[in-house]
Amino acid sequence: MPRRQDAQRASERKSSRGISEEGEASAPKPIEAQARSKLLVAGAARFEPGLYLVATPIGNLRDVTLRALDLLAVADLIACEDTRVSAKLLAHFGLSAPLAAYHEHNAERMRPKLMERLKAGAVVALISDAGTPLVSDPGWKLVRAALADGIRVSALPGPSAALAGLLLSGLPSDRFLFAGFLPSKSAARKKSLAALATVQATLIFFETAPRLAASLADMAESLGDRPAAVARELTKLYEEVHRQPLAALAAHYRAAGPPKGEIVVLVAPPASGAAATLDEAALDRSLSAALATMSVKDASAAVAAATGQPRRLVYQRALALSGRGT
Ligand code: SAM
Repeated sequence: MPRRQDAQRASERKSSRGISEEGEASAPKPIEAQARSKLLVAGAARFEPGLYLVATPIGNLRDVTLRALDLLAVADLIACEDTRVSAKLLAHFGLSAPLAAYHEHNAERMRPKLMERLKAGAVVALISDAGTPLVSDPGWKLVRAALADGIRVSALPGPSAALAGLLLSGLPSDRFLFAGFLPSKSAARKKSLAALATVQATLIFFETAPRLAASLADMAESLGDRPAAVARELTKLYEEVHRQPLAALAAHYRAAGPPKGEIVVLVAPPASGAAATLDEAALDRSLSAALATMSVKDASAAVAAATGQPRRLVYQRALALSGRGT
């Protein structure tokens, strides 16, 4: 367990905290300027002043890395989403570094304050409530600002729900696209999914339990009934990975109701071969033939079934060919 180095270090650190009750950084203290010229030493690690992007556990606290503990023990300031959540994490490891809230609602106001600290030579850590910061979590604009000002930026990698889900999905892992959270409304969600329909990679989504069944159904409709996995409560006591095609997963969660806990959804790339590589001209020829005798709806259903292309994509093409598309 990392400890503060010595009494002098502890008193230096105390004097450099400068955090208001609201968790905001105040004016830099002289110690931070001194820190520019020396390395901070913790455990086996040495940390120069700069911005450190630190991954934290997504469930199992023993997944924290030794280097994360080293850094969090000596950081002048830890920027986090929710100070209450991160205070518990630190307390679990016997750490008590000063915390400052940095989240989507105060980021514009807080970023300049964090930059002041960084420019004054502080060691600033950025963590999220869980997992890897910046991944569907705040941080990239702070990184951009730090890089623009020539501040040293380092990553301390570790737990990530997206990657843990990918590892357990049983789906191809050589190419993947992390798509974050889909829109909550079905129409917007289908539009986002349509834009992903031809991506030749495993797709990774974050999803909430109440929206899971509807989202899986929209995926089946927009992407085709591909192999998929729902990874839930990763690294926790009730970790579960449910691997089935999208339509079966949608039916399961529609019948069972929303599951408990946090969820990652993973979807296989489009099937290789004819279905995936069917060119647009061939699709148009099939659709034109079908449209000669069928409604747009029936023609697109028939062609989607015959070609393995996503129904929504074929439907949109059929609308365009029939002159009814936008
Ligand atoms: N930055 C985090 C990371 O790298 O894991 C993700 C933050 S994002 C705001 C939170 C979402 O991640 C959750 O809604 C859920 O979709 C997913 N998630 C986080 N922890 C998880 C877990 N233990 N099991 C499954 N999904 C998880």
